Amino acid sequence: MSDFPSGDGSVTNSVAKPSSISNGTNAPSLGDLSEKDKPWDKHRGNADKVSNHYQGSEFRQYAQRIDFCSQLLDFRLVPDEADGLLKLKLSAARFCRVRHCPVCQWRRSLMWKAKAYQVLPKIVKDFPKHRWLFLTLTVRNCEITELKGTLQWMNKAWQRLSQLKAFPAEGWLRSTEVTRGKDGSAHPHFHCLLMVKPIYFSGKSYIKQAEWVEMWRKSLRIDYNPILDVQAVKRGQQPMQLVPELLKYCVKESDLVADREWFLEITRQMHKMKCVVTGGVLKQYLKDLEREPDDLIGSDNFAEVDEGHLYFGWKKKEKSYKLL
Ligand SMILES: [Zn+2]
Repeated sequence: MSDFPSGDGSVTNSVAKPSSISNGTNAPSLGDLSEKDKPWDKHRGNADKVSNHYQGSEFRQYAQRIDFCSQLLDFRLVPDEADGLLKLKLSAARFCRVRHCPVCQWRRSLMWKAKAYQVLPKIVKDFPKHRWLFLTLTVRNCEITELKGTLQWMNKAWQRLSQLKAFPAEGWLRSTEVTRGKDGSAHPHFHCLLMVKPIYFSGKSYIKQAEWVEMWRKSLRIDYNPILDVQAVKRGQQPMQLVPELLKYCVKESDLVADREWFLEITRQMHKMKCVVTGGVLKQYLKDLEREPDDLIGSDNFAEVDEGHLYFGWKKKEKSYKLL
């Protein structure tokens, strides 16, 4: 990838030339200078909240690590290919890699998404006639203290499902998401991308929604019909459009910061649980997504010319990264 986004997307807002930036007490913030880097403040602000949650718990060493996470951001000033204006590109930062650190979880998701956008077109090229399904599998909400057992049971059920004769996917990617119910319960569910044979929609192998529910119910060995959603990617459309939904996060940030006890418990319950799993013929393409990315910066082309660096420091009280 020639141009890795350091922010949320591919927006390439220009920034002021370094000469026009004052370095006084009212130093400009990162978000003022670079639209695409605005999310930094939100994620680092939530990291402070999460660190507070960890204070005084058995995870106090996580609190310390998160406190040191991404305090200083080193950006390069790089001329934009399109208009020649300078834009910011993240060059260096120290990340704590604590699983539920909002900054690290955001960076991880960016790296995974970039990887998927890079690899999925290759798969489409190798399997041009195959079709794609997006399947969401749920179970009833559970107590947060029962999350681990519930996820283990769902994993087992997934195994049974994928081994059924009728299971149509030749390859798949599955991600786990847990949301917080209003009553403090946990709602675990799987988002799955399935690659099916070209004949899936025409032949006998087509599976109606009600049949999917039946298959998932049997795999779970339960007596109620679980909520399940299945959607086809239209012919001619690409599975890439599903990447944001598939590779976002395990637990969304607003749920991480909402309630301390819930958060501490989810840390206990999700310890060492894998959030992304791949299988079948897609494994060889996408197995990197099962691991923590080595690189959380995305600065993969150092040869590019830059016109200097700008440094931003996190100002906790102002909840903002300021130019140093
Ligand atoms: Zn971190």
